[in-house]
Amino acid sequence: MQTKRSYINGVNPEPQLLKEGAKWLQAGELVAFPTETVYGLGANALEDSSCAKIFAAKGRPQDNPLIVHVSNRAMANKLVEVWTPQAELCVRHFWPGPLTLVLPKTALVPNVVTAGLPNVAIRMPSHPVALGLIEETGLPIAAPSANLSGKPSPTSGSHVWRDMKGKIPLILDAGACSVGVESTVLDVSGGVPTILRPGGITLEQLELVLGEVRVDSPIEGQAPKAPGMKYRHYAPQGEMILLMGSHERVVRRLGQEVQRGHSRLKKVGILCTLESASSLHSLLPDLLFVLGSKDRPEEVASNLFEGLRLCDERGMDLILAEGIEEGGLGTAIMNRLQKAAGQRILYI
Ligand code: AMP
Ligand code: MG
Repeated sequence: MQTKRSYINGVNPEPQLLKEGAKWLQAGELVAFPTETVYGLGANALEDSSCAKIFAAKGRPQDNPLIVHVSNRAMANKLVEVWTPQAELCVRHFWPGPLTLVLPKTALVPNVVTAGLPNVAIRMPSHPVALGLIEETGLPIAAPSANLSGKPSPTSGSHVWRDMKGKIPLILDAGACSVGVESTVLDVSGGVPTILRPGGITLEQLELVLGEVRVDSPIEGQAPKAPGMKYRHYAPQGEMILLMGSHERVVRRLGQEVQRGHSRLKKVGILCTLESASSLHSLLPDLLFVLGSKDRPEEVASNLFEGLRLCDERGMDLILAEGIEEGGLGTAIMNRLQKAAGQRILYI
């Protein structure tokens, strides 16, 4: 299949490009489009055969359900059976934005979207292209991240192009995404609201509005409530090690690991904070990528997937990443870094 990449204005999207995207979606095809979190791979959420194409293009496991994106409340109402008071509060405070709500689904939502679960995950994005495209299509749009399954999420049109070229008819490219990590997935279907996946809206922000909020921590051997959380995501091709500890210790250990890697003839890449960059430069790694300041996690979040993807593109065999403090957006960032590193985490 020939893939067209159309550059679109991220602030005032050109109406004819939104119309072109809407036509493909209405015809049951896939369109990649920017959201404020990461790029989405969209399909008509009401049609089984369209959604099935998402799983095929990504190589996504069938048991990993899709987030449905809407552009207005009336559209959301058709998909949700019961709106709990907590869900209403979330809509009022955080929509449009990077918060996905898990709520009981209506019969209109196909089982392929929820992977057979009784609840649907639903979100209203704030990106003008995403909102404009959904509005123009007039349909709810199922859209996971527009990467090949297992790879880091795409935060630019170039990332999508690399993963989806030849598999879908259209990519709407509006440049870099502002948030850079995926939405927070929050179960508000009843009882205490529970975070199933940390993301763009923090636990602290949710607590201010909702009071008590739990974080789902799956018990060993039990399936997590968000099926996608069990997969090793965001993994670069090279071996990755995440280093956690005081600044001085991490910098010293990074020096040792770079030497060890080089002595085994490996290409070594480092993902680090701005604060550590000048000390690490002299280690002569094959790639030094600055994620951002440790005091500005929003900066780290927006650069994270670019850094992971660059390591692949430049053929790094060993990737050493400096951890940042948990809390706020730091929790979502560390969740992604830990998954990217698999079990290779050094506490020093
Ligand atoms: P992605 O869109 O690829 O960033 O992933 C969506 C995330 O939301 C995955 O972790 C899914 O398992 C989770 N999710 C989607 N739908 C549901 C649902 N109905 N119930 C619980 N988790 C869901
Ligand atoms: Mg994803």
